[in-house]
Amino acid sequence: MSESWDVVVVGGGNAGFCAAQSAREHGARVLLLEKAPREWAGGNSYFTAGAMRTVHNGLDDVAGIIEPPATDRIDLDPYPESEFLGDLRRVTEGRCDPRLAEILVGESRATMGWLHELGLRFELMFHRQAYEVDGRFRFWGGLAVGAVGGGKGMIADHLRAAAERDVVVRFDAHVTGLLTGDAGDVRGVRLAGGERIEARSVVLASGGFEANPAMRSAYLGPGWDLALVRGTPYNTGDGITMALAAGAQPFGNFSGCHSVAWDAGAGTIGDRDLTNQLTRGGYPFGIIVNAEGKRFVDEGADFRNYTYAKYGARILREPGGRAVQVFDAKAMDLLRPEEYQAPGVTKVESDTLDGLAKELGIDQGGLVRTVEEFNRAVTGERFNPTVKDGKHTEGISPAKSNWAQPLDTPPYVAFPVTCGITFTFGGLRIDEGGAVLDTAGRTVPGLFAAGELVGGLFFFNYPGGSGLTAGSVFGRRAGRSAAA
Ligand SMILES: Cc1cc2nc3c(=O)[nH]c(=O)nc-3n(C[C@H](O)[C@H](O)[C@H](O)COP(=O)(O)OP(=O)(O)OC[C@H]3O[C@@H](n4cnc5c(N)ncnc54)[C@H](O)[C@@H]3O)c2cc1C
Repeated sequence: MSESWDVVVVGGGNAGFCAAQSAREHGARVLLLEKAPREWAGGNSYFTAGAMRTVHNGLDDVAGIIEPPATDRIDLDPYPESEFLGDLRRVTEGRCDPRLAEILVGESRATMGWLHELGLRFELMFHRQAYEVDGRFRFWGGLAVGAVGGGKGMIADHLRAAAERDVVVRFDAHVTGLLTGDAGDVRGVRLAGGERIEARSVVLASGGFEANPAMRSAYLGPGWDLALVRGTPYNTGDGITMALAAGAQPFGNFSGCHSVAWDAGAGTIGDRDLTNQLTRGGYPFGIIVNAEGKRFVDEGADFRNYTYAKYGARILREPGGRAVQVFDAKAMDLLRPEEYQAPGVTKVESDTLDGLAKELGIDQGGLVRTVEEFNRAVTGERFNPTVKDGKHTEGISPAKSNWAQPLDTPPYVAFPVTCGITFTFGGLRIDEGGAVLDTAGRTVPGLFAAGELVGGLFFFNYPGGSGLTAGSVFGRRAGRSAAA
């Protein structure tokens, strides 16, 4: 026996819920199918900090969508479309699809308003995107607004909003294939166990292939099977695989992904309690060395938001796929307690660099030499974490371009890190309405897509907070088209 719906959405993360709400708003009867059990609700979206990059005109503009802040000592510069687009183009080295990028940026603020009306709650992210300097909280890096309660809060809000608007959500519903007509049109989905569910339209929002080691090593390259998964184990590329089998066009950076410095002692899949607390994003205020005690990246090349998503891949290329972040006592107050003081954090401390290296099991002479050379190379004026302060090194390679301070104040503290993969960049090609395109550039009738499995937006790197916004903007569009 098979049931029949107007729209079936595959995947219950942020993009899937947005697509479902949008289809519902346009009159469709909507069923959302989620592979995971309820205890794993929310996909990768659950694991996020809930940070959402959006265009805005400053504090007065975002005031309408956020909870009232506890202080008025706030400096929040406007973040216009030109800057968001510029950031996207710069970090993707000019490769982001121009039309998808324009839509993402142009609809970001309106979509935040739409989410707020659906019942999602937002706040200013004082704890991760601002520092207090001269008595004022100054926001930096083009990112200020996040979901209350992070990804956990966002998914709780999505589940409540779905129930309020009669979006039917079914867990333990593993979609294994698309039902197609003779003309290749999509007419529903097949579930593990053989059940068939018919629908006028299907929206795929089932994430990338980051939790599939075979696909990782096939597309991203050798060694990627060894990366730790930061989020859900259920994003195994199913939607991409079934859409490609139905003739969809692969698009975007299939050899690229979002990956970060991640606690070297973390498990192979995400931790539902700690979620993003296993990230180690404080490296702009210290140095990163490999097992030989050598630096290999410019830790201060830019604000963390613009470098963190590509440095995981750099760490994976170092010996053993590991590295160590090293700080002195001066930097410790700048490290987010949620990350660097999280329960079970992998950490080594010593009053000497020699002792630190010994405890870490890395090259002692190498580390001491690196720090001595680094300290001698530091130049520039006043240290300021809220701007690119230009306090840099001279005469060493790689340079450190900002926030360079000598490591000279014990105790020295080190955090061993490895590569944590967040999500993959390659995926399906969609048109402006979220319809999936085939290899001839024509729409696959009845098939839409949103979220991580859409290709073409991100290449090599990523401006922090763009994934949830992209899933929301394109989820909303795909849901509207699927209902039409
Ligand atoms: C630790 C961490 C922190 C992050 N922090 C941020 C942040 O602060 N801001 C930001 O913008 N982005 C962040 N991201 C990235 C963000 O998670 C993604 O960009 C976004 O959540 C993707 O949403 P989605 O709905 O496409 O995918 P998901 O939220 O992963 O949802 C996909 C869903 O599809 C389901 N599914 C998979 N296969 C099937 C199938 N065959 N049948 C049925 N269901 C299926 C999965 O179980 C999953 O629930 C972070 C990611 C991680 C892991």
